[in-house]
Amino acid sequence: MKKIAILGSTGSIGTQTLQIVRNNPELQVTALAAGTNVKLMEQQIREFRPQLAAMWSEEAASDLAGRVADTDVRIVSGMEGLLEISTMEDMETLVTAIVGMIGIRPTIAAIEHGKTIALANKETLVTAGHIIMPLARRKGVSILPVDSEHSAVFQSMNGENKERISKIILTASGGPFRGKKREELKRMTIEDALKHPNWSMGRKVTIDSASLVNKGLEVMEAAWLFDVPLERIQVVIHPQSIIHSAVEYADGGIMAQLGMPDMKLPIQYALFYPDRKPLAGKRVDFFELGQLTFEKPDTETFRGLSLAFDAAGTGGSMPTVFNAANEKAVALFIQRKIGFLQIPELIEESMGNHKVIENPSVEEILQAEAETYEAIERITG
Ligand code: NDP
Repeated sequence: MKKIAILGSTGSIGTQTLQIVRNNPELQVTALAAGTNVKLMEQQIREFRPQLAAMWSEEAASDLAGRVADTDVRIVSGMEGLLEISTMEDMETLVTAIVGMIGIRPTIAAIEHGKTIALANKETLVTAGHIIMPLARRKGVSILPVDSEHSAVFQSMNGENKERISKIILTASGGPFRGKKREELKRMTIEDALKHPNWSMGRKVTIDSASLVNKGLEVMEAAWLFDVPLERIQVVIHPQSIIHSAVEYADGGIMAQLGMPDMKLPIQYALFYPDRKPLAGKRVDFFELGQLTFEKPDTETFRGLSLAFDAAGTGGSMPTVFNAANEKAVALFIQRKIGFLQIPELIEESMGNHKVIENPSVEEILQAEAETYEAIERITG
């Protein structure tokens, strides 16, 4: 029996993780955490019977406690609740499927307590990779990627000598706006941005895919996870999303992982690594596909990607500012307060105004996040 806890259980990754639990009796859920969705959390508690469940606000937690008073589950709230879950004794693997930098502290706490991390929450590594990766090495803790590209890279490294890696090739579908130019992007709405051609994901990450900011965050995540310098990470647009990413080695050989675009595969792989459990679903049919195509990313139009390389190159607190500015800008775009092209503009402006802190502590990271949010609020009124 493998005991897991899920932070962000009501979200896209969280609910897909629970589908895997449903199909695999050897997995047991000992804790769940979510933000506000009390109704779905109640259903999840009744189905999966965790010992602990957390809601972010005290109000949501007390609403939930009333709804599940007839069960044995204990309800907690806030950061304290997330930390209690991340460090609980009766849990081996923590699935970090929460969205945003709120995931940093729970991830650090879980590593300190020797828990395996199934990492979906990319913001954690983007902003605090310099703290998390050395800590994980010191504690001998595995960080198993859930993000499909990183899982593909990880799978492409099985049995290989990491010293012989010459390049990591991160594929990107190009999102719903692939091929469009700046003039057209100006008019794009939230509804347009949410029409992802291949993947079904949460709203924030879908919009980030449309702007290529998501790929930028993934470049930073890959640099930390695989300890590869930025100049050895290449982004390739591959609209069919069949090759999920690849690794080129010193002899020119390329190992890649292919499959249908379905997040359940990388989630399940992280939960059972190094085993490959059966997973139902459509299979790749090369005859049906006919061809796999590749393009260079248009970084003139999709500035988010080049700004991510700049932020990662600068390092320190700059990736935090990149990420925080994007989070705030995406929230404003969802509220229809800014246009799509203002997302990279606000990121660039925030980066330009930031005084970099080398090796920031968690407090300094959260401070940089708060300052970036406030500055954007001032600019956009
Ligand atoms: P969703 O928006 O679908 O879900 C986010 C989850 O986090 C929800 O369960 C939400 O709860 C919870 N949450 C938000 N704020 C808090 C909080 N303060 N305390 C506790 N829980 C909170 O996101 P995704 O599942 O799409 O993404 C999750 C992470 O995984 C992100 O970092 C994303 O970049 C990454 N990722 C996602 C992929 C995907 O396919 N979706 C692919 C690869 C990576 P509630 O709904 O109750 O508010």
